Amino acid sequence: MSEKFVAAIDQGTTSTRCMIFNHKGRVVAVDQKEHEQIFPKAGWVEHNPIEIWENTRTVVSGALAKADLTAADIVAVGITNQRETAMVWDKHTGKPVYNAIVWQDTRTAAICEELAAMGGGAERYKAKVGLPLATYFSGPKVRWILDNVEGVRERAEAGDLLFGNMDTWVLWNMTGGAGQGDERGIHITDPTNASRTMLMDLETLTWDESIAADMGIPMSMLPEIRSSSEVYAEGRQRGALHGVPIAGILGDQQAATFGQACLSPGEAKNTYGTGNFMLLNTGQEMVPSKNGLLTTVCYKIGNEPTVYALEGSIAVSGSLVQWVRDNLGLISSAEEIEVLASSVDDNGGCYFVPAFSGLFAPYWRADARGAIVGLTRFVNKGHIARAVLEATAFQTKEVLDAMNADSGVDLTALKVDGGMVVNETLMQFQADILGVPVIRPVVAETTALGAAYAAGLAVGFWASGDDIRNNWAEDKRWEPNMDPATRDKAYALWKKAVTKTFDWVE
Ligand code: ADP
Repeated sequence: MSEKFVAAIDQGTTSTRCMIFNHKGRVVAVDQKEHEQIFPKAGWVEHNPIEIWENTRTVVSGALAKADLTAADIVAVGITNQRETAMVWDKHTGKPVYNAIVWQDTRTAAICEELAAMGGGAERYKAKVGLPLATYFSGPKVRWILDNVEGVRERAEAGDLLFGNMDTWVLWNMTGGAGQGDERGIHITDPTNASRTMLMDLETLTWDESIAADMGIPMSMLPEIRSSSEVYAEGRQRGALHGVPIAGILGDQQAATFGQACLSPGEAKNTYGTGNFMLLNTGQEMVPSKNGLLTTVCYKIGNEPTVYALEGSIAVSGSLVQWVRDNLGLISSAEEIEVLASSVDDNGGCYFVPAFSGLFAPYWRADARGAIVGLTRFVNKGHIARAVLEATAFQTKEVLDAMNADSGVDLTALKVDGGMVVNETLMQFQADILGVPVIRPVVAETTALGAAYAAGLAVGFWASGDDIRNNWAEDKRWEPNMDPATRDKAYALWKKAVTKTFDWVE
């Protein structure tokens, strides 16, 4: 029999990828396409869903062509996606009623305040959904679309409109969309994505009608919640993956956790992409956070019990490097940040707190805005580059401290992945500031890999978590090498810098 493969579609914040993996979990082919970042106003971030679906089709065909494979060689396809990004479309025409509102977008601050004022403050829904009221999550974004796009509320109430995160949109289109022959798109999501809407009860994995009512969201718009790993449907006849079982959905950070084989309680990973996201597997226990973390679904495999996670979300890490490239022009590519940072020995006293979307974990302050502090005539662009990289490491330290406090167990090492982990200067500084080793796996594309694993498990291509654990292999490890006094001093200055960003917007 010829060799078989699993495909993964990774609908990310900056690009959409299709990756094809073999049984060992190694990458056979990848195709990737960036989409436009639309910034209509300060604090607003949108994506065009039509462009995203077209890119999805292009990269699926592209990856198959590069690997010289067809649908017949693919045993299953999994989907992973930028979480929280929310959109609404017409189920009869397949047309979005508005652009997708991206997770970083802060336009819902007033809606969140209004909901908090109904009683209970920012923690109004936290016991049920694991999340504080914040602009990050989907529910208030849907409310914004219903309130602000003409005619949409009536159409939603008439049952003509559907809500989805990007997993739901891609899958609906992959299974026939508004209709092709007798095929119609199926409208589903998984518990990891649903757990980021503020609308799902974490314990029952069902939509909470009272929260939906508070937000004015008709229940008919909400997708059916299925598990993260089961055969949902087959790819539509006209698509490149026609007849292939679509068998896994995981939000990107949960997918990376899965791809890093963090399958036992106490195992954690940190992904360094546009933002940074640390997830700690807490097993079947939902651990409420007292330290600014989120309680979220880690994954649910078929009928097996739900596995939960604690998460520390940082809005801006790699995107600060992009900002230095695109908005300041100090570098012409992301890699150059390391060269520039290496031109100096330290940060020269300069700290950069990138509170561009307010601050997420552990602060959850929509009123914060970015600041560069500690400037003197001595500071040059090398020091700024260094401060940019250090910002990611310090924010990670804050999240790790919160994780240790909430879980009561100190992490002894950190598995890392994502676009920034090629940066050796950052990885060494990260180990130094954390005081624990930082470990990078051979396959750094853990997000796509995790979605492939979820899909492959559902069709028996991989038998169990042991196959996933056995495929995981270490590439490189950075040991901490900074004396504790220096580390503590630097961290105290970072903490002080953070306080300078507060109360900036009303
Ligand atoms: P996402 O999946 O969130 O779209 P990726 O995991 O692809 O992101 O990572 C891309 C991010 O990594 C970008 O924000 C980019 O600025 C950053 N990045 C890429 N290469 C480097 C580098 N050598 N040093 C620092 N940051 C980098």
